[in-house]
Amino acid sequence: MVNAKIITLINGKKRLLYQSHTYFVRYETKNETRWSCSHFPKCKASLYANNNQIVTKIIGEHCHGTKKLYVSATGHYVVY
Ligand SMILES: [Zn+2]
Repeated sequence: MVNAKIITLINGKKRLLYQSHTYFVRYETKNETRWSCSHFPKCKASLYANNNQIVTKIIGEHCHGTKKLYVSATGHYVVY
């Protein structure tokens, strides 16, 4: 499996980047985090990743395409 990556958006919010989709934290447990698609609730796709950002479970499919990401000079991500 491809590892996911935690990114910081230009507004300071934390997102998970996985296969060109971005996810936000739904909840965290001691060992893993459940992330939901940024398009929630329109899109029901979500996933579980452990503390090393290794995706352990994928739930549902995205109902939309991916967006372009741009990294600013400060290392923050901008989603188009
Ligand atoms: Zn989605």
